[in-house]
Amino acid sequence: MGPSEGDFIEVEKGRLKVPDEPIIPFIEGDGIGREVIGVAKAVADKAVELAYSSRRIVWWELLAGKKALRAGPLLPEETVKGIALAKVALKGPLETPVGSGHRSLNVTLRKLLDLYANVRPVQYYGAPTAFKHADRVDLVIFRENTEDVYAGIEWKAGGEEAKRFRELLKKEFGIELREDAGIGVKPISEFGTKRIMRKALTWAVERGRKRVTIMHKGNIMKFTEGAFREWAYEVASEEFSDVVSIGEKKPGKILVDDKIADNAFQQIIIRPWEYDIIVTPNLNGDYLSDAAAALVGGLGMAAGLNLGDEIALAEPVHGTAPDIAGKGIANPSAAILSAALLLDYIGWGEATELMRRTVRKVVESGRGTPDLGGRLSTEEFGGAVMEAMEDVR
Ligand code: NAP
Repeated sequence: MGPSEGDFIEVEKGRLKVPDEPIIPFIEGDGIGREVIGVAKAVADKAVELAYSSRRIVWWELLAGKKALRAGPLLPEETVKGIALAKVALKGPLETPVGSGHRSLNVTLRKLLDLYANVRPVQYYGAPTAFKHADRVDLVIFRENTEDVYAGIEWKAGGEEAKRFRELLKKEFGIELREDAGIGVKPISEFGTKRIMRKALTWAVERGRKRVTIMHKGNIMKFTEGAFREWAYEVASEEFSDVVSIGEKKPGKILVDDKIADNAFQQIIIRPWEYDIIVTPNLNGDYLSDAAAALVGGLGMAAGLNLGDEIALAEPVHGTAPDIAGKGIANPSAAILSAALLLDYIGWGEATELMRRTVRKVVESGRGTPDLGGRLSTEEFGGAVMEAMEDVR
């Protein structure tokens, strides 16, 4: 399985062994994914070529979404197996029709590969924004990726399952729900919470970050989000006591504190510079990362990485953007910056930095796709980045 050239990345005792010509799978995805992923690959190739003389990426296409549907299921088994084998992948967005009864392919993929940490760095690259503190935003959102109301446990109003669940609630707990209610379940476990907090604290230690804030709605949802807060603090105090300070700033220590979600939402707008790493359950994290992306120029600039213990899947935060799909005007920066995150993950940090610095240079120069106030097409923007890369180096 896999292309005839290149070698697979391996993981040995938790450490990555990266060959000079690693096989990196990619999924184009639906909608604007088809337009931005190709550009991101080309930019990554150029950065690797300029940063290292003896390295290159061997891309391997895996299918999912509409492209896969032509020959079989939306999410073929080979795709999931391929990513598990290669340990890393770059992915475009996949469409999930609202209320269609289809389970989200993204959620399924993250669950099957146990990619429990969705890491979303939010930084300013010079994009036009109404927000006056954009240059002071430097956040990393750690969103739990497998639990919460996104776990996919829900039943349609009026359906047989909802009826049985309602009857169980009434019989066992004396709780009555309306017959016309759809029902969702919100599981948040100690295991799931502790491993995302561990990931966030490890990231903070390795990258010299100063603060890790647990964002939750535990005042209302005590045994799910409230428990998330407690378990996250337990990891900090029991496993990272030598490097953290809980609740108060201390020199040389990472401050670990917590904030109620609604308050945190307004504070990242009023005083973004106070926030650093935010760890939060699935749904909060999804909302927060789009809102935070808006501060620095919108979804076209927002990159993400899904991490498990051994596998990393990079993907832009945005979806398939049906309103602009097929027009060739999507901003590929989010996909380029996601590929950059992936290269950083495999230890090719020079290429990552080159990609980031060049995107910044091009965006700051005022050249961009329409969402950036420019007139470039997706392809032209990619071309501008690749051209500028020679100088930035
Ligand atoms: P979306 O695809 O993220 O797009 C929302 C809006 O943001 C777009 O209409 C466009 O707005 C703007 N936008 C997003 N990416 C852009 C880019 N690269 N360049 C320029 N503008 C960009 O959200 P959605 O419309 O709610 O979701 C559409 C589909 O995507 C749904 O089926 C959803 O399930 C799926 N989705 C998939 C993923 C994933 O695969 N990880 C993530 C999120 C959503 P304007 O042109 O109006 O400014």
